[in-house]
Formats: sequence, C-alpha cells, structure tokens
Amino acid sequence: MIGLSCAVRLLEAGLAVTVRCADATEDTVSATAAAVWYPSGFPAGDARSLIWARAGFDQLARDAVHGAPGVTMRRTRMLLRRPAPAPWWVPAVPDFRLVEHTGQQPGVAQEWQFTVPTVEMRPYLRWLVQRVSSGGGVLERRPVNTLDDLDTPVVVNASGLGARTLAADDAVHPIRGQIVLVSNPGIETSVRDENHPAGPAYVHPRSTDIVLGGTVEPHRYDTTPDPGVTAAILERCRALVPELAHARVLGQAAGLRPGRAGGIRLEVAPGTRPGTHVVHNYGHGGAGVTLAWGCADETARIVESL
Ligand SMILES: Cc1cc2nc3c(=O)[nH]c(=O)nc-3n(C[C@H](O)[C@H](O)[C@H](O)COP(=O)(O)OP(=O)(O)OC[C@H]3O[C@@H](n4cnc5c(N)ncnc54)[C@H](O)[C@@H]3O)c2cc1C
Repeated sequence: MIGLSCAVRLLEAGLAVTVRCADATEDTVSATAAAVWYPSGFPAGDARSLIWARAGFDQLARDAVHGAPGVTMRRTRMLLRRPAPAPWWVPAVPDFRLVEHTGQQPGVAQEWQFTVPTVEMRPYLRWLVQRVSSGGGVLERRPVNTLDDLDTPVVVNASGLGARTLAADDAVHPIRGQIVLVSNPGIETSVRDENHPAGPAYVHPRSTDIVLGGTVEPHRYDTTPDPGVTAAILERCRALVPELAHARVLGQAAGLRPGRAGGIRLEVAPGTRPGTHVVHNYGHGGAGVTLAWGCADETARIVESL
C-alpha cells in the first residue's frame, strides 16, 4: 500500500518509476488489513500524523465517490468503557459525534460515531497496480538485497517490515494481528471496542463478508492463525454484535503490521553513491492504509525537491 501509493504520486508528478517488490501483492500485510480508516496506535502530539490522516481520509473518500474498487464510506460506532476526550484525529473526520451513554448498554460509558472510508484491499491493490502500469510505471517482482545495488538517483524505501534489514533499522518490528472472516447477516455499521479487557474487538462489514478482530501482538513473527485466538475473537465480537451469533466462519488470517519504535520514518537520507538519495517511508504499524496517501504526498514533495 505504501509503495504503490508513492508510485502513483510520483508518476502523477511526471517522474519515471520502477516498483521492486519481494512478494506478490496478495501476500503482503496490506492485503490482509481490515482495512478501515482509523489511525490506530498513533498518539496525539505528532503534528504530521494529522496531516497524513486527513490526506488519507480525503483521498480514500474521493476514491469511494469515484467508484474505486473496494472503497466505501461506512458508519462506525466506537464504544468506550470509560469517558474519554474526543481523539486528536477528529479534524480529519467531518461527521464525528461524541455520545454520552446513560446506562443504555451495560459497560459502555460513551460512544464515538463517525463515517470513514473502508477498503477491501485485494481489489484496491490490484487497481493501484493497474494505475502504476497504465501510468507508465514498471513493476518487477525481485527482492532488493541492499539499497546500494539500486542504480537510480532516488530510491523510495517503502519496504514495511523489510526495512528492519534493508535499512538496518532495529526499531522496526512485527505487530501480529489475527482476524476472522464471517458471512454477513445484513450488518452495515462497523463497531469497535478497542478497550475490551480480553483484547480489541472490531466488526467491519464488507461487500460480501465481515472482518472480525483482533489481536495486537508485538514482536511475534508467526503468521499461522491460532484456532484458540479465532474462538476468542468470535466470542468477543458476538458479544459486541449479537446478530453475528449464526454468522458462518469463512476464513481466518494473521498478518504482521510493520511497527516501529518511535513511529513512522519518513525522511530523506543521502544514498551511498554521490548525488543519490533514499527517501524512507516505513513503519506504519496498524495504520498504513489510513496514512498511506498522506505519506505518499509528502514523499512526492521530498522527491520533487531533490
Ligand atoms: C489484522 C490487520 C488489520 C489491519 N487493519 C488496518 C486498518 O484497519 N487500517 C489501517 O490503516 N491499517 C491496518 N492494518 C495495517 C496495515 O496493513 C499496514 O500498516 C500496511 O499494510 C503497511 O503497508 P506497507 O506497504 O508498509 O507494508 P507491506 O504491505 O508489508 O508491503 C511491503 C512491501 O515491501 C516489499 N519488500 C520488503 N522487503 C523487500 C526487499 N528486500 N526487496 C523488495 N521488496 C521488499 C514487500 O514485498 C512488500 O511488497 C492492519 C494490519 C493487520 C495485520
């Protein structure tokens, strides 16, 4: 998601672009993402996060209006067990509402209601690949062993978890997330309970199924879904949305979010050959879909300024 969104922006700027990737698009964590606009795990205080989050919202909302494959706007209810101030990202979301609960739902003190873009990643990523190739970009499935091997004036390093090796960055680490896919009995609203004592619970309807989650497991590399975790996710989500009681399980998956201690690295560094540059854009954790377009805008601005 990060690399392809950058490639689209660089092509729009009139630059020649080659995308190198080690994995098939459908085998990336981007293809596993839930993937709703929500800047999970990014605290207030980083001014750039709001710029990226807003740009991400606006681009995906435009994609929804223009019928981009897999993108829709979806009503969301975020249930809070304790009252909390409105989150830092509110300026990015036009219809945000904070609703106080007075006993109507046990255990819920407050609710945030808002409408955000939701993306079905497989069709969306395929569409981005098409946009890159129809815009004149070259796509090559071939791993990069070292950034020094790339004979080009500017490299954009959007290698996600791969940046741990490629950029020798020990701050990069996996944050494992497991999800369960079930049939949709007619649910249209996303519901989230991020502070469930047994782990986050979320219910994200899509066109033909629902994504149920989830887990947040830092430093765990294993992508084999754990059946015990699947059962626990189902239990939490069915308690959250009782209409799911008879929804059929269609699948389960686990992906590794590209976490980074210290947050996203988006900056330019000198390349090893004289006059060359590397623009690093990685470490988006659980919010890569949310922030991708904002980070791609900034990447393109940096590249154009070099
Ligand atoms: C269960 C789950 C739910 C999620 N839900 C959401 C959500 O609701 N909203 C949201 O915003 N985000 C969500 N995310 C997070 C999101 O998936 C990530 O932040 C995002 O996909 C990261 O994108 P990326 O392009 O950096 O990484 P990736 O998708 O991993 O892509 C990295 C690319 O770099 C390539 N690469 C790596 N090393 C090399 C190398 N040496 N040579 C060549 N190529 C290389 C790979 O082949 C790949 O193509 C979720 C993640 C999970 C696991």
